[in-house]
Amino acid sequence: MNRCTLRLLACSYLVLLHLPSTAFSQAEHELAFARRVSQRLLLSHVRDLVQIGNRFGGTPSGDSSAAYIHRKFSAYGVKSRINPDPERITYAHKRWLLRVHHPRSHRKVIKNEWLAGYSPSTPLTICRVTFLDVGERIDPAVIDSGAILTPRFPDHKLYAELVKAGVRAILWYPDIPFNVYENHAYIGQLPLSKENLVPLFNISAGNGKALRDIIQRDSLLSIEFLTQTEVFTGSPKTVVAEIKGKSDQYFMVCAHGDSDSGGPGADDNASGMAGVLEVARVLRSLIRDRRLPQPEYSIRFIVWGSEYFSSDHYVRSNSKELDQIKGVINFDQIGTGATRNCVYFESNEVPHNRTLLKVLEKVGEDYAGRKGFWEEATTNPSQGGTDSYVFLPDYLSRIKMPDVKIPSTTMFTGAWNEPRTYAQTPGWSSAAWKGDPDSVTVDYSEYYHSSMDIPRLTTDREPFNMAWAVKATGIALLRLAWEPQGSSRVE
Ligand SMILES: [Zn+2]
Repeated sequence: MNRCTLRLLACSYLVLLHLPSTAFSQAEHELAFARRVSQRLLLSHVRDLVQIGNRFGGTPSGDSSAAYIHRKFSAYGVKSRINPDPERITYAHKRWLLRVHHPRSHRKVIKNEWLAGYSPSTPLTICRVTFLDVGERIDPAVIDSGAILTPRFPDHKLYAELVKAGVRAILWYPDIPFNVYENHAYIGQLPLSKENLVPLFNISAGNGKALRDIIQRDSLLSIEFLTQTEVFTGSPKTVVAEIKGKSDQYFMVCAHGDSDSGGPGADDNASGMAGVLEVARVLRSLIRDRRLPQPEYSIRFIVWGSEYFSSDHYVRSNSKELDQIKGVINFDQIGTGATRNCVYFESNEVPHNRTLLKVLEKVGEDYAGRKGFWEEATTNPSQGGTDSYVFLPDYLSRIKMPDVKIPSTTMFTGAWNEPRTYAQTPGWSSAAWKGDPDSVTVDYSEYYHSSMDIPRLTTDREPFNMAWAVKATGIALLRLAWEPQGSSRVE
């Protein structure tokens, strides 16, 4: 070794000492991010949020949940504010009771059932239950001021007919070919109205059939119920936080803060809220510790007070600055998956999503199968139904917003209550997908929109899912917002 080499080594050591952030390679940044992701924190956020209640926008539990998110951002050193959205009709239940009154042998059968959102308050009532089958005519004489048990979901029309016929309560159970809701209730809601006159109880498929059998054996079935609810107008609270970049243009990481169905909503969508907090916490901690420089683009973190409603309000009130959004990554149901250990990135058929999704797809491929990462990852075509769609041209044109092309995706680990297989978008096929390359099977949750979407059965059972989504997002942001020249090469 000659002196010259030694001097060079000494110089590079000084550079390392003085510019620690630039001394890390992209791969080191990414691994540093992944190492700091805390599964324990993610799970504890979900448990805390589920404890708060259904978090419906504009209700006390929605306000408490926004305050929780705001406090956490502050604790992590990420500036945030709580933005009140316009008022909307909303719903909270304080207390409800439902049990079989007769036969006494079935008194304890009601366990995992759930009162539907927008049910009115009713005093303690004991009444007979009659059965209304699919296609059966409603006979007011048979109902005789009693309750109805039915496998027909009471949509607007059926609900109005049943109320008119004098029904006191509706017990609905799903009669579906797959076995998902046998022991817990799928949560259907009543029309969003202050005028609903009778409550709807969502019954598990198993209990629905057991109660039907009692009626059909020609023996008396009666129930006892009580509901104390409030249907009112309130303002959902949306929490917005930001890590400032060199540019005001920004990437958005967001999730809806309300439970989709009015149930506990651990997977849908406390998991997404926890994910947003964790991406913010880890990025901020890396910047604070000088492991990362300031990003080129800002990163905005948003927890919507009310799904669709709040994101819709956001695009309307930021209509002149929508072109500042470089990309949207929305988390919805990142907490569980029934059959695959896969992270999905949605809406690959949208042409202007190409760069964003190619970066996510590459992240998926680079880390698949490595310790602490997903087994599979893929992009998939649009399925609709969540906040990322508000930023896409179809929705923006419907609400007469400027014609801007915002890349927007939803990341998830399971959707719906059954597996769904879609034809893969031509030109897209991830090397990290283990199934048929021409199709994507979207994993599901057996607790989707149900009374048992609780941590013990979803997020706690598969604690790695949320950590994977956070890692995929953090690593993609390191490529997109810190290395923008690098990302533009991905075509
Ligand atoms: Zn959702």
